[in-house]
Amino acid sequence: MAMGPVGLGLVDCHCHLSAPDFNSDLDAVLEKAKKANVMALVAVAEHAGEFERIMQLSERYTGFILPCLGVHPVQELSPEKPRSVTLKVGLDFSPRFAGTDEEKEEQRQVLIRQVQLAKRLNVPLNVHSRSAGRPTINLLREQGAEQVLLHAFDGRPSVAMEGVRAGYYFSIPPSIVRSGQKQKLVKQLPLSSICLETDSPALGPEKLTRNEPCNISISAEFIAQVKGISVEEVQEVTTQNALKLFPRLRYLLQK
Ligand SMILES: [Zn+2]
Repeated sequence: MAMGPVGLGLVDCHCHLSAPDFNSDLDAVLEKAKKANVMALVAVAEHAGEFERIMQLSERYTGFILPCLGVHPVQELSPEKPRSVTLKVGLDFSPRFAGTDEEKEEQRQVLIRQVQLAKRLNVPLNVHSRSAGRPTINLLREQGAEQVLLHAFDGRPSVAMEGVRAGYYFSIPPSIVRSGQKQKLVKQLPLSSICLETDSPALGPEKLTRNEPCNISISAEFIAQVKGISVEEVQEVTTQNALKLFPRLRYLLQK
């Protein structure tokens, strides 16, 4: 069924543009993303050492690359300009990262503090969780987090549905083509709770191959297939979801 051109482009809600993988050809990567109908990218940090680079990118590509930092000093970097400041935090209970109860508890405390900060600043949380789906959703709900994106969620669909009831969004990376867990997740999740992401340079359609934001269409197409709806509908609804989750996106896009 032809639905006509999509009004807005796609939003990559979670990618690592400051990763060394993109040092040599970021301009070309972003050009490809634009051609693939990407209208905005949320560039997330993994550590404070990346903040500077991410802020530089968000200035160089104003209204296209949006910064997503993990701690509060970002506010002071530019008090005169409005910025889409968000937080990337979460729980990762993979045994190699958090083998002990002490380590898990410390992660909880860090996440709690960042949830409180996000609430105070009224910014959304871009949350990483791995092998910790239920603990993450429980913690977020206990802490009263409201604007939440659970990126590349690896938990069970039934656990995800508790997040849906709390109003949380789930972003789906192109690795869905090779992940039975993500396919099951998408089947269960209502489209109104789904966003798109690439997690570039990770979570691409092929293992061990650098992922790029232009691959976001792979997520959209696969979601359409799983849900038996048109790609246009997936594009339209996921972008509207991203605009609800990141209200400042709408403002930045006009700049
Ligand atoms: Zn990531």
